[in-house]
Amino acid sequence: MLAPPLQRLVTELGKLPGIGNRTAQRLAFHILRASAEDAGALAEAIRDVKEKITLCEVCFNLAEGPRCTICLDERRDGGLICVVEEPGDVIPIERTHEYRGRYHVLGGALSPIDGVEPEDLRLGQLYARMDGVQEVVLATNPTTTGEATAMHIAAELHERSPEVAVTRLASGLPVGGDLEYADEVTLGRAFAGRRAL
Ligand SMILES: [Zn+2]
Repeated sequence: MLAPPLQRLVTELGKLPGIGNRTAQRLAFHILRASAEDAGALAEAIRDVKEKITLCEVCFNLAEGPRCTICLDERRDGGLICVVEEPGDVIPIERTHEYRGRYHVLGGALSPIDGVEPEDLRLGQLYARMDGVQEVVLATNPTTTGEATAMHIAAELHERSPEVAVTRLASGLPVGGDLEYADEVTLGRAFAGRRAL
């Protein structure tokens, strides 16, 4: 029914999370009506994000260049590493202003059912960063897989680097929820009240 270029845009938009066919069509018509500048800026922003954003070579957070802004920031405490599942989890933690250390992004959580094993996460790279580290804060999601991941890392770190304190965010975070959706007051409190593992 739609002209092929328009149908193609609807199909592509429909692949985005939370966008059904009806919304995809509405967005496609909106883009069609937009000025050439606005539509071009959108296309360019999509291309740019894929070309310019990479993963930090140290912590695997999103970066523009080899290292992320947090790893490049000399004022951040290198003796403290906060472990999260995804790059998106760094943002809510930064918003709390409770944390001044560095990060390590695992790239997921352990889930044997889904075939995610320890070697699929950036665990070796974490264990290799323990030089000069006093504390590792495990801020994986308060879900079954997030908890399992925290327990696994805690056991490994106790074995490999017994001098490093391993802590977990305090409860108060919604169980089964994602860090990404926690409000900053709750998350800030969870940080302040982290406990040793
Ligand atoms: Zn980094």
